[in-house]
Amino acid sequence: MKKIKYFLLVATLIFVTAPTVMAGTQANMNSQTSWTNGYSLVLLDCNSLKEAKSARDYIESQGGRIALILSEHAMTGWISPEIIPSLTSNKQYPITAVYLSPVSPDLIEYQDAKTIYAVNFFNSVASGEAARKIAASATAEKAPLVDDARDAPPISYGDYIHNLKQMGIDVDAYKDRGLLINADANISPAPGNSDVMTGTVAMGMLFIESDGSIEGNLYDWTAAARDDMLNQAGIALSWWANQAPAYGASVTFSICYFDPLTNPAMSQGYEPLNGTHTSGQVGLWIDAVMTNMGYLSGSHFDKVYAFNTWLKGYAGTDWAYTAVVCYNPAAAPTTYNDGYFAWAYYGGPYTHLLYRNNGYEISDFAEILAHETGHIFYACDEYYQPGYGGCTSCDPCNTGSHGVPNGNCEYCNQDAVLCMMRTGPWVLCCYTPGQIGWSWTPDDCQSGGNLPLAPSNLIVRAPQRPKTIGLRWGDNSDNEDGFFVERKRGRCRSNRAWQEIADVPADSTRYQNRRLRPNATFSYRVRAYNGNGNSDYSNCRSATTQP
Ligand SMILES: [Zn+2]
Repeated sequence: MKKIKYFLLVATLIFVTAPTVMAGTQANMNSQTSWTNGYSLVLLDCNSLKEAKSARDYIESQGGRIALILSEHAMTGWISPEIIPSLTSNKQYPITAVYLSPVSPDLIEYQDAKTIYAVNFFNSVASGEAARKIAASATAEKAPLVDDARDAPPISYGDYIHNLKQMGIDVDAYKDRGLLINADANISPAPGNSDVMTGTVAMGMLFIESDGSIEGNLYDWTAAARDDMLNQAGIALSWWANQAPAYGASVTFSICYFDPLTNPAMSQGYEPLNGTHTSGQVGLWIDAVMTNMGYLSGSHFDKVYAFNTWLKGYAGTDWAYTAVVCYNPAAAPTTYNDGYFAWAYYGGPYTHLLYRNNGYEISDFAEILAHETGHIFYACDEYYQPGYGGCTSCDPCNTGSHGVPNGNCEYCNQDAVLCMMRTGPWVLCCYTPGQIGWSWTPDDCQSGGNLPLAPSNLIVRAPQRPKTIGLRWGDNSDNEDGFFVERKRGRCRSNRAWQEIADVPADSTRYQNRRLRPNATFSYRVRAYNGNGNSDYSNCRSATTQP
């Protein structure tokens, strides 16, 4: 819950002994802003999100890719110029225009708020502004999202069904269409509302507002803060959509936001970040907002489960989840009293986030939402921090992750690399796609491209100086970020455990190991590392310190 700096993470890596050495864990390093290339805006004359979703299916069948459905009149994605004439001339789907460069919202035929949001978001991407913000944010030091992945809460199925009926839903028809979640919590995962990140996904984005009726109203969402969150949600979900094709998958998100400035259902009596609440109390305001929308039965979880099922029907999507966002401008704390601020449940029903999240910039909201969305689809955490949760095994981390191991967990893989499910950079590591239901084989995590070459010709000597052993090696690579030096007691063939004792800069070829026990034998080996992982080890050499 407290901000943890990278040096603590590095210390953790040094003291945890990995039981097995895995091949370098690969990550796609070019993904941070490459999704903004070729970003396109599609305008449509549909009457509902469901109709827009049908048009999306058509566009994808023609070779286009849709990242976001933002209203019945607007979607964004990647449309190559060659297919635009066939899209706009077809008679069955009312695709009226495709833009590849910024367009003034005033020139758009549809002036509803959600379409204007879509145009403004598209302009921020097509103008390069979004990429500049992502690049600026990506350089900042990030803390892990501690203890933020939780098991799905229990459901009262009777209350879930009752909530659907209260909303006027034909439950039998929904059952026939496969939209209901599974009644049996022992079948895991349920067929639920967010089993796999494929096809179409509706995200209900609830902006919680307070009205002063129960406790003092301190903060009110501003249009600027709301729009910032919406644009960052667009970034987060476009990034996921852009990753999918590399893993044989396709995913489109339908962002259904509930405006705190105009939708009275978002207003309720509590002020979440007034400094008196713990994270365990979020059910109070989530329940109130759900009640305002007409969900009356059971716990706030039962209501959000039902809301997500309603969303699937409303937006015509395969899956749905909810993002609850509470407002805490500069005067407010950035966590609840117990230190929590952002978390998600495996398989849903919701992720909870703040406008300002502890230790992060406001502009980091997109990365946090992207990370939490991974958990909603059963992606595992890959960071480990004693006392702060995270992963403690390289085995599958939950029952919904398709049996895919959590091989980039830093607790058990000393080659673990930084990526979205570890500490947040816009990089997808190789196990996560399998966990969220994309095409995956163990080989995906075994290739060794762009790793540095191993150092060689390691020589170790105990010089005249006592308690010291000197190392020299040959540097064979030109792409290393540095070298890890490992040591163990005894000869090279001893069964003692290796320990990482030093991290020395790129192009280093020597290291002095000081303050050793006199007249004792130590063995050494060295390997190079970079952002893709570690090289093989050098040869092993031993030396005995002076008596
Ligand atoms: Zn997490």
